[in-house]
Amino acid sequence: MVTDPRNVFYLTGFRGSAGVAVLGESEAVLWVDPRYTLQAQQDARGVEVIEERGGLLKAVARWLGKKKAKRVGFEGDHVTCSQLRALEHEGRGKVRFEATSGLVEDLRLVKDDGEIALIRRAARVTVEVFDETVGEVRPGIRECDLAAEIEYRMRRKGADGAAFETIVASGPRAAYPHARASNKTLGKSELVIFDLGAILSGYAADMTRTLFLGKPSARTVMLYKAVLGAQRRAVEALRPGVRCCEVDSAARRVLERRGLAKYFTHSTGHGVGLDIHEKPRLAKTEKTRLRAGSVVTAEPGVYLEGVGGIRLEDTVLVGDDGPEILTPASMDRWIVS
Ligand code: ZN
Ligand code: ZN
Repeated sequence: MVTDPRNVFYLTGFRGSAGVAVLGESEAVLWVDPRYTLQAQQDARGVEVIEERGGLLKAVARWLGKKKAKRVGFEGDHVTCSQLRALEHEGRGKVRFEATSGLVEDLRLVKDDGEIALIRRAARVTVEVFDETVGEVRPGIRECDLAAEIEYRMRRKGADGAAFETIVASGPRAAYPHARASNKTLGKSELVIFDLGAILSGYAADMTRTLFLGKPSARTVMLYKAVLGAQRRAVEALRPGVRCCEVDSAARRVLERRGLAKYFTHSTGHGVGLDIHEKPRLAKTEKTRLRAGSVVTAEPGVYLEGVGGIRLEDTVLVGDDGPEILTPASMDRWIVS
C-alpha cells in the first residue's frame, strides 16, 4: 500500500495530492476522491481506479478485508500514527499492516531514460534562467526580487514552477546554508549565493552558483577557488561503484588542505528526481555504492559567520562512462563588476 504522492506517481503515473495505491502480484488499484477521478483514469494506465467519497484509507482497509488480505506493507515513513490506527480499526484485526521503509525510494535510485530526459529539461531551464538573471544582479537590488524573477522565468519556460523556494542570500546572510531570499538589498563587495531548481513534469533539478559584487580580496578568491576545486573533485568522483562516502571525503579533503574543512558544515550532495532531496545521500556515513543512472548533486560549500558563504552545486548524471554535468552554467564568471 503506497500513500506518498511521489511514490504513487512513480508507480502509477497519477500525479495528485491525494491517492492510495495497492499493488499486489496480480492487482494494481488506486483510490482517489472525486476531485481526481478523471485525471486518475487518464494518467494511471493499467491501474483500476476506484472513486471514494469517504476516507481513502478506510475504504482501502475495507477492500483488503474483503479480499482476505493477510499481510499488507505500508510506507512507515509516510503514514501517521492516526492513519495507522484507522487502518487497523477498519481491518478488524484480520489484516496485518506492516511498516516498510524506502522500498519505492530504492527503486527510484536509478532513473530510466524517460526520467533522465525530464531531469535534463528541468536542468536546462534552471541554467537558462540563471544565465538570464545574472544580468540583473547589481548592488541595490533586493534578494526577494531576484528570487521572484527567477521563479517567474522558470514558469515562462514551461516548468511547473520552482522545485524548492529559491535561495538568494547576500553578504553575511550567505553564511546561512539555507537562507530564504529576504528584503535585504545586495551591497558592494558582497558574496551572493543563488540556489535554484526548476521542476518539470514532476522532475527537479538543483543548482547553486555564488557571485561576488565588486573586486574580491585575495582571501575571497582563495576561498572561491577552494570550493571550486572541491566541487570539481566531487563531480569527478561520481562514478558507478564508488561509495557515496568516498565522494564526500574527496570533496572534504580538498577543503581540508586549505584548513577550511570546519566551514563545510553539510554533506556533499543528494539524489535528485521526483523529490529535490532523495536517495542516495552523499554523506560521510553513507556506505552504499553509486549506480549508473543515478542523478545526484555535488555541492560543497564554506560558511563563515559574519562574512558570508560560498557554495557551488551541479546536478550530475552518474553515467556508465563517467559523470555528466546537467547544469553547466559557468562557475568561472563569478565576479560581477
Ligand atoms: Zn541546491
Ligand atoms: Zn542540493
